[in-house]
Amino acid sequence: MVRNGVVLNMRSLSNSAGNAGSNNVVVSPDRTFADVSGGALWIEVLNETLKLGVAPVTWTDLLYLTVGGALSNAGIGGQTFRFGPQIANVHELDVVTGKGEIVTCSANKSSELFYAVLGGLGQFGVITRARIALAPAPQRVKWMRLLYSDFTTFSNDQEKIIANYSQPDSVDYLEGQVLLDNGTPNMWETSFFPTEVVPTITSLVKEKGVVYALEVAIYYNSTNEEIKDQQMKQLIRQLNNERGLAAMKDVTYYKFLDRIPCPVPRSRSRTRG
Ligand SMILES: Cc1cc2nc3c(=O)[nH]c(=O)nc-3n(C[C@H](O)[C@H](O)[C@H](O)COP(=O)(O)OP(=O)(O)OC[C@H]3O[C@@H](n4cnc5c(N)ncnc54)[C@H](O)[C@@H]3O)c2cc1C
Repeated sequence: MVRNGVVLNMRSLSNSAGNAGSNNVVVSPDRTFADVSGGALWIEVLNETLKLGVAPVTWTDLLYLTVGGALSNAGIGGQTFRFGPQIANVHELDVVTGKGEIVTCSANKSSELFYAVLGGLGQFGVITRARIALAPAPQRVKWMRLLYSDFTTFSNDQEKIIANYSQPDSVDYLEGQVLLDNGTPNMWETSFFPTEVVPTITSLVKEKGVVYALEVAIYYNSTNEEIKDQQMKQLIRQLNNERGLAAMKDVTYYKFLDRIPCPVPRSRSRTRG
């Protein structure tokens, strides 16, 4: 992997004790941004910002990735259709360049370096700090999976939702998945179809060979739950999914974002190079 290259253990940047924690993530007094170590994990960013009722607006599916690692790619997830990828929500970076200089860069300062490093696959410097935009965090999430046996119907519904992205009644998260005939639907790590519909879904997958899932989430707080419920019902009425094969969950914002388990046990992930 590193012939003529260099391997850096970015987790050693975490703090002087080598532990993950609040030293990695410093939220500004007005809570509009956080300064985050390049070696911090996104789950740590979530933990620290949520304590103050704020959070980044756009996420990857898996949160057990470093901030520098995701920003060296793009950081794409279900919020990207509204807010862009994570690299579009960074105000400033500290970068160690190939010449060993530490440069603070942004859209207005050393912008060539800034835009090269964001999505730069580690080829233009090492991100040691990122200033990440924050917004008020919602409390809870209404999370739905809708199934489609026809690709055109599925993509038409997906595009309909995306086209509404700038409206106040836009959904907050949208992804799509393909379900193949290689197991039952509840083998998905994040699946939540009621057991009584699983045989129907399984036979649909067997019959069609492939079934498509639209995954949608709407965020809410105790103050606007009723409005968001109406919004969800109105949305479902407009969509053309397989009726009777929808599933819904109501979870905390934290549980929703942390829905994919860490693939490496945490004690190992801390020391991994
Ligand atoms: C299970 C899994 C799920 C994923 N889900 C998503 C997803 O939903 N959305 C998404 O966008 N991506 C996703 N990814 C891809 C992920 O964003 C990239 O693989 C990212 O690089 C991982 O970060 P890392 O901390 O593991 O980086 P590493 O694997 O440690 O590094 C990857 C590369 O990034 C560069 N890099 C890492 N840190 C820095 C730094 N501080 N400064 C400069 N360059 C650096 C280096 O070139 C390095 O070679 C996923 C990956 C996995 C394994």
